[in-house]
Amino acid sequence: HAKAAGRNTYQMFTREMHTAARQRLAIENSLRSAVANDEFVLHYQPQVDPANGRLVGFEALVRWQNPENGLVFPDRFIPVAEETGLILEIGRQVFEKACRQAAAWREAGLPPVKIAVNLSARQLRQPDLPETLSAIMKSCGADPGMMELEMTESMTMERPVESIRILGAFKEMGIGLAIDDFGTGYSSLSYLKLFPVDKLKIDRSFVKDIEVDPDDAAIASATIAMAHTLGKKVVAEGVETQAQLEFLVRHGCDIIQGYLFSKPLSAEEAELYLSKRGEEQGDSTRMRYVRE
Ligand code: C2E
Ligand code: MG
Ligand code: MG
Ligand code: MG
Repeated sequence: HAKAAGRNTYQMFTREMHTAARQRLAIENSLRSAVANDEFVLHYQPQVDPANGRLVGFEALVRWQNPENGLVFPDRFIPVAEETGLILEIGRQVFEKACRQAAAWREAGLPPVKIAVNLSARQLRQPDLPETLSAIMKSCGADPGMMELEMTESMTMERPVESIRILGAFKEMGIGLAIDDFGTGYSSLSYLKLFPVDKLKIDRSFVKDIEVDPDDAAIASATIAMAHTLGKKVVAEGVETQAQLEFLVRHGCDIIQGYLFSKPLSAEEAELYLSKRGEEQGDSTRMRYVRE
């Protein structure tokens, strides 16, 4: 009896593994054709100076526009892309699109705005990443001053000495640097001091309950104070409510990103938002959260 049950468990296990492996292979294969067929699009989420409601930058967020599945969000495919190495080509395409967009907006005479692009762990492990990105900027006519790179705390802390070198190279090129999801990884403050980054981004998990959870409030306000002492600016991500905004502003947070001001926008919507940058971004122009 036990033997039979064991065999069933075994069969079920292999069947599940088989299905998971097949699914993964399917994603991998369609990702490969997505790379070849240029199926990635960027959406742009505004970053706002809370002192005046003005747009200061956009974070470029990749979406996979798939003919069968529609718009696929990064959490669904970035991990597979990372495992298979396809992330290197996807990351290149993303950076190139962001550079083209920055150059196009400048050419159209729109107000200057920074575009932040997310890097993956595997990209950061490429010793020639600064040269690769520099070549892309040149070919697109994008100035390094228009671009910013976001990498997570855990990514940079994984190989801190190499990170210092590579971040230093970006800094020298004039590209802006931000540490993403700050507070979620383990951080060595002595290394953080040596990273030539301009900004820390407080992870949205701390922002969520910021006005009710004293621990989250303490982490957020301590992060802001520490960043300022180190000469860095602070971006809060995932800001959805007026109460969260008020807490962050009261504690000196420099830049706000989140559904309260705007969801991530298509390139066309972002251009419209950018063209209104000089005007008051009052409640009427503030786009409240609607599912992308
Ligand atoms: P992230 O870099 O921390 O990006 C912020 C995520 O928070 C985005 O999700 C954004 O849409 C979402 N978000 C923004 N405001 C709010 C808000 O007020 N409330 C809530 N609940 N969420 C908000 P998204 O676009 O799904 O991206 C998820 C993650 O995928 C990103 O996290 C980033 O780690 C990764 N990712 C996105 N684009 C790229 C890319 O081009 N390359 C790489 N390597 N990773 C990317
Ligand atoms: Mg990011
Ligand atoms: Mg983030
Ligand atoms: Mg985050």
